[in-house]
Amino acid sequence: MTGQDKFHWAKRVSRRDIQRLYESDAQGVLDEELLDQVHFAIHARVSDMFDVREAQQTGRVKCRECGEYAREPLRYNARGGTNAGRGECHPGKH
Ligand SMILES: [Zn+2]
Repeated sequence: MTGQDKFHWAKRVSRRDIQRLYESDAQGVLDEELLDQVHFAIHARVSDMFDVREAQQTGRVKCRECGEYAREPLRYNARGGTNAGRGECHPGKH
């Protein structure tokens, strides 16, 4: 894994995939592989939303690598972005 995508957030779940899933089910041939894919995509997305919510409410940011809390508190930049998901929990650990 490269440093660039080490701390990425889960991508949006594809509406097209969800539509294809419903269509396959309606046709009586549920695409179970696609079901797994959508299931994990939704789970990852929601889990990340909970991490962001926790960071907003408590100021504590979880390390994306190991799940430990970072020493650096949540900060907002001038554009409204945050430092959540960036950097390491403890410098040099990963
Ligand atoms: Zn860590």
